[in-house]
Amino acid sequence: SEKAITRALLSVSDKSGLADLGAALAARGVELVSTGGTAKALRDAGLAVKDVSDLTGFPEMMDGRVKTLHPAVHGGLLALRDNPEHVAAMETHGIGAIDLVVVNLYPFEATVAKGAGRAEIIENIDIGGPSMVRSAAKNHGFVTILTDPADYPALLEELAVNDGATTQAFRTRMAGKAYARTAAYDSAIASWFAFGDSDGETTPFPETLPIALKRADSLRYGENPHQSAAIYVPQVIAAPGVPQAAQLQGKALSYNNLNDADAALELAAEFAGQEPAVVIVKHANPCGVAQSGSLLAAWEAALACDSVSAFGGIVAVNCELDGATAEAIAGIFTEVVIAPTVSAEARAVFAKKKNLRLLESGALPDPRRGGFAMKTIAGGMLIQSRDGGAVSRDDLKVVTSRAPTDQELKDCLFAWTVARHVKSNAIVYAKDGATAGIGAGQMNRRDSARIAAIKAKEAAETYGWDAPRTHGSAVASDAFFPFSDGLISAAEAGATAVIQPGGSIRDDEVIAAADAAGLAMVFTGMRHFRH
Ligand code: 5GP
Repeated sequence: SEKAITRALLSVSDKSGLADLGAALAARGVELVSTGGTAKALRDAGLAVKDVSDLTGFPEMMDGRVKTLHPAVHGGLLALRDNPEHVAAMETHGIGAIDLVVVNLYPFEATVAKGAGRAEIIENIDIGGPSMVRSAAKNHGFVTILTDPADYPALLEELAVNDGATTQAFRTRMAGKAYARTAAYDSAIASWFAFGDSDGETTPFPETLPIALKRADSLRYGENPHQSAAIYVPQVIAAPGVPQAAQLQGKALSYNNLNDADAALELAAEFAGQEPAVVIVKHANPCGVAQSGSLLAAWEAALACDSVSAFGGIVAVNCELDGATAEAIAGIFTEVVIAPTVSAEARAVFAKKKNLRLLESGALPDPRRGGFAMKTIAGGMLIQSRDGGAVSRDDLKVVTSRAPTDQELKDCLFAWTVARHVKSNAIVYAKDGATAGIGAGQMNRRDSARIAAIKAKEAAETYGWDAPRTHGSAVASDAFFPFSDGLISAAEAGATAVIQPGGSIRDDEVIAAADAAGLAMVFTGMRHFRH
């Protein structure tokens, strides 16, 4: 099953490692055939090369759209060497066998990523390259296909060990890799047509969904140790996030670390360009969020919301992480810290905490960006556009006889921003730019309100405050109060203002309860379930 290599066709866009490979093949007496740019690069390296146009009898034409699409090439790739009819056809038509194909494709993904225009993107759809890759891979019983410069050394090792031949095992492995590459390449093209082709007719949910993902890392395990896991990133990255962040120190990120760091970063990104903000996340839910004149003060306020849950938490900030804040964060057990930039002082502080994972994200992702959220269910997958809805002060409708004060409005909007990042049912109390109590993930809204109030009470006991910070706070609910009970328990906790979508058939009853308790309430007209 070992097949000697006597003739190679090289046609590569990424010319890294090409000269060395060409020289090593030439030294073994392999004949080199190449397309324009590749042939030039090989000649520049002092190697003898035959032009593919000599093989086909046609010049490369139409801006390179037609170079290798010819029976002299594809016959030489696809002919079964042990089939007499195939061999006779090669002889009749003067087709020479090609034993090795080295191809990498026009850089379609990189062209999209760099923000090129439509015409340039279309021109970077490789046609002849994938055709050769697929022909050679199909005939891997005889032909060796390489699609990745990282495999050149392995080929040379293979030839060295097998006296100028490749083994069936090697050819089969490379053929599998080749089809994975052309599949991913076509997926990237189809993704661009589906999601990224702004000049064309975009179908948001095409009938078949191309998803071009590549593995960024293998993870030790999934949500639990008996689950396996890996992280994949899109081949064309639209919004950089946690997977693209630089890890400055600490143990490898786990599945849960990545999930939590994403939740923390997405919420911190809500405060991009605003006053310093700190987000503490546990199990993908925020357990303390605050904004203040200094990052240190924001950290202290965020921690005070639920210092019990913050143990082993994930912390994200919206600005450069300074030394004093790092010192304070290092004071409690923290799994991950992520910031757009990390100062030298902060790095020095965390250097003493060897296990803490410190990430520098660069820019914050745009929380209102487009894109899709996906979730698998048995037998299928649910896909929705991301929750990009936003409300501003002007969108709020006052529904109670008392209108909120300016400070209440500010706290309402802060609580609302946090609530959209809390798993439903979400109840968030906020006061003076800090969460005072967060209730998450309950099966009814009243329990979330009660849990948030209990946490606020515990914080007051821990810190020795006279009263929980829910007193005089604003409360946000991610969806309407179906009954007045949830609102009444919020009033009992001391909230004076309420922000919620409205839209319940019992809105009148809820508004009456708010008026009776002297609360000011605004409706957003938009809900933010997050299950
Ligand atoms: P070169 O730099 O050698 O001129 O071009 C190399 C690139 O051309 C490779 O990326 C290869 O996949 C691509 N290629 C080879 N043959 C054809 C063809 O017939 N049509 C198109 N569109 N691309 C080709």
